[in-house]
Amino acid sequence: MSGATKRLAVLGHPVAHSRSPAMHNAALAELGLAGEWAYEAIDVGPDEFESRVREMAAADFAGANVTVPHKGAALSLADELSETAREIGAANTLVFAAGGIRAENTDAQGLLDALPAPPAGRRALVLGAGGAARAVVWALLREGAEVDVWNRTELRSRNLCVELGGRPVVEPEAGAHGLIVNSTAVGLRGEDPFAELPLRSGDLGPGQTVVDLVYGEEPTRLLRAAEAAGATTVDGIEVLVRQGALSLEIWTGRRPALETMRAAARL
Ligand code: NAP
Repeated sequence: MSGATKRLAVLGHPVAHSRSPAMHNAALAELGLAGEWAYEAIDVGPDEFESRVREMAAADFAGANVTVPHKGAALSLADELSETAREIGAANTLVFAAGGIRAENTDAQGLLDALPAPPAGRRALVLGAGGAARAVVWALLREGAEVDVWNRTELRSRNLCVELGGRPVVEPEAGAHGLIVNSTAVGLRGEDPFAELPLRSGDLGPGQTVVDLVYGEEPTRLLRAAEAAGATTVDGIEVLVRQGALSLEIWTGRRPALETMRAAARL
């Protein structure tokens, strides 16, 4: 790697499975920036996260994406926060500049960009209350959706709604939601969504949009069932691509080709 290369990375633990390096390097190549910029995956445990980020910022890194379990820590160490990152309480994008470390959140806008239609006026059901769910709830409320939030651990969904808004629900009303977003980890290891989540396949149907943030080799069981029922589906790769495109634009000032990023992320 030449001394002039501006380095980027995704920091997570674990991170070996990440599609981000392939997706970002393909986009950089398409933009003619491959010689100037390079993106890698770095596995960093929670204990060393802050010191590694500071080392990277002092070295030749221009920025980083941050994933599980570091999105809260990324916010805490930053010198400057975007309003979105501050309000959501999590950052997925860091920018290393002369003035210090800036934290941004592109997960929220990435989710909105991935939706087939604006969510204003729709009744949404968000499943989960972790970092991903926080960005989803914040984004949907900002766009004028009505948001119900269910989580396995009820206290967390109640706390999330106190902080961000939305309505915590224990038993979501069947068939009442035009938009359902799975922001839990259910499906990551092939779990049955209809056993672990308060959903019945018979309640899915045309006119609904079902988003699954979980992504893997194939469509998740939730998305396969939603598609079979005639719902519109959005998978986790599309959300990953959209948040990644926004991060890359923040770092480089250039708008990457979504199709190139999709193709690389889906390989
Ligand atoms: P997190 O903070 O660890 O939260 C995990 C969530 O999943 C919690 O709400 C947890 O509920 C729930 N959960 C875990 N196992 C469950 C089960 N068996 N039944 C019901 N609920 C269960 O993780 P996160 O950062 O929010 O990420 C959540 C998922 O979204 C992950 O799969 C991640 O890969 C994915 N994600 C995708 C993108 C993308 O761009 N596509 C972006 C961000 C995240 P409890 O509170 O009860 O533990």
